[in-house]
Order: sequence, then structure tokens, then C-alpha cells
Amino acid sequence: MKVFTSKLCTTLHTPEFEFHGGAQSQHYECPERREAILKYLESHSDSFEVTEHVEDFGYEPIKRVHKQGFLNYLETAYDEWILEGGHPNGVMPSTIPHYRLARLGGQTPTNSLTNAGEYCFDMSAVITKDTFKAAWNAAQVTLTATKDLVRVADQYEKGLAAGTIVSREAPPGLYALVRPPGHHAQSDLCGGYCFLNNVGIAAQWLIDRPELRHKDGRPKKVAIIDIDFHHGNGTQELFYKTSNPLYASLHGRDAYPHFTGAATERGEGEGLGFSINVPLPRSTSDDEYVEALEKLIQEHIIPYDADYIIISLGVDTFKDDPIAGFLVTSEAYPRIGNAIRKIGLPTLFVQEGGYCVEKLGLNVGGILQGFLGKVAA
Ligand SMILES: [Zn+2]
Repeated sequence: MKVFTSKLCTTLHTPEFEFHGGAQSQHYECPERREAILKYLESHSDSFEVTEHVEDFGYEPIKRVHKQGFLNYLETAYDEWILEGGHPNGVMPSTIPHYRLARLGGQTPTNSLTNAGEYCFDMSAVITKDTFKAAWNAAQVTLTATKDLVRVADQYEKGLAAGTIVSREAPPGLYALVRPPGHHAQSDLCGGYCFLNNVGIAAQWLIDRPELRHKDGRPKKVAIIDIDFHHGNGTQELFYKTSNPLYASLHGRDAYPHFTGAATERGEGEGLGFSINVPLPRSTSDDEYVEALEKLIQEHIIPYDADYIIISLGVDTFKDDPIAGFLVTSEAYPRIGNAIRKIGLPTLFVQEGGYCVEKLGLNVGGILQGFLGKVAA
């Protein structure tokens, strides 16, 4: 499996701390996460080929899902924050415009010390000096992998048509090893360690490509499956009113981000029925998780008849994750990868959460190995 990544995913975004449960703590979404995954992949070179080739797709694909004012804010927030006396660790909102906060005069804050809340919904998306560059880089790495997905999918379809590939049992897969992650980032809100929605940008890019359209003019269909422990409020918001892509998520019930991810959130208008939310209790075991994923695939993903699958790959479902977790063990991850493989479609995995650094390589590797039809080790 080809793996797309960049050293910049380690070096550019390095906040020193965040607040967790009211206390100052280490920043769990740390550079060591990428290093741990990379170490696993490089020690399993029979399965993985790592490339640091990154193409620049420019601003356009990012602007297709994020609003310009938000992008301007991300790009300039840190410098303004420092000029105005903010702490050098990075931008954190001190006031968030709660929906019951009366903004009777329609006021919009005018400086970064106060307007962080305008574009951020919590205190975990700390904007440092190079955060925008880091998020930009993660999006470009993901797009580079997405472009390659088109290539391998094309080969796969041609092989099936010519009979050189005899079944859909071993679909092609690629992996974008990126940070910061993206699935909590909405069109104009950062939060939950996320700034730009990598998966959303990739899905929209696939749908937008005129040369990828079917012969009858229909755009390609994308199904996003979000297996991070947390609900991908950002991805859901981006696509809540459209039928393409489909967004389906398995996540912790009553868990962060707390206000989204109910089973009753099903989309709106043309999008009604194309947001699928499956909240699961914290006590969810390996068998229960794999069964829930297989049920989601059978009931929603297969009938959707997508051309591409994109996986928001989080392994904070792990039982020992320091900030999340079901009762899921490392043994479950190859089974999860295998369930995704059985869909039989070209698949792009994009890294989201997972904070047990010690087991991160094994757990992410487990999913990817399972997709390749192997057992992790
Ligand atoms: Zn998560």
C-alpha cells in the first residue's frame, strides 16, 4: 500500500499545551503520533511504500469547502494574537459566542484576542505560528493521495473489465498519514485539533473533477466512513444538505464534541438520509464494534453504490486511549480493515485521531494490514 506523508506533518504544528478537563495538559495531538505510525510502516516495508512526494493543488480545492473569512483568519490569527499580547503557545478563544449570548447589536469582534471564538468552538485547536502552513500541507498531502486514488481506481476498473482482475476481493487502497487531523473542522470553524477538513476537501475534489464524470455526466460518488471515536461534526456539516458524498459515522455516545452525532441527524433537503450516525456506548467491545461496522456497511454503504470510499481513520476507539476509547483492543483493528476491504471499492484512508502513542503504529497498521488481507504484527 502506498503511503503519502510529509515531514512537515511532524514539524510545523507543535503546540506545547492544551486544557483538558480544566487542567493544563500536554497537547495530545502531538508530532510523536506521526513518528510512531511511520515507524510501524517503515518496519513493515513488505506491505507499505512511503512517499514524501507532495503536489501543490493550490487554494481552490480548500475554498470549495471552507469559507474565505475563516481561511484568512487561520492564516493571520497567530501574528495578530502575538501583536495584541496573546500567549506564545498559540491562539485559544476566551469567549465563544454561545447561541444564547445576546448579540443584539450584531457585533463582530475586531481583534484576535477576542475574535478567536468567532472561528473556533473549543480550546483544543491551538493556532501556533505555523499551524496554517501545517493544515495546508496536510490538505495537499491528502489531495496528492486522492489524485493517486483516481489512478489506481482506474487501473482496477480496467483490470476488472479485461478479466485480469477476477474479483473485487482485493480493492486498491492508499493512506494519507497527516496531521493536524480534519474531521471536526467545519466550513468556518476550527476545533477538536482540526483546522482544515482533509477528508472533506478530498471528497469534494473527487466530485468536482469534470474528467472523472460518468459517461452520462453524473459525478463520481464518494462514501465517507468515519471510524474515529469522535463524531466528525465538521465533515457532517460540510455535506449535510447534499446526497454526495454520503457521510457515515460510528462514534462514542455522549462523547466529544457532545452536541452532534445523534442518530436523528440524518441530513437535510437533498441530503436527507445521507448523513448516517451510529452512536455506540463506551462499553463497546471488539465484537460489538466490528458487528456495528459490518451492519453500517451492509445497510448504508453497499446500497449507496459509491465509486470511492474515504475512511476517516481514527484509532482513539482503543481501550487505552488517554482521552477517548471504547473497550476495543488491538486485535480488532485488522478485522475493521478487513470489513472495509470487503466493500470491494478503491479506498483512501486519511489519518484522524488516536492518542495512545505507544500502540498507535500497531493499531493504525492493523487496520491497513487488515485491508490488505493480512494480520497485523
Ligand atoms: Zn477522535
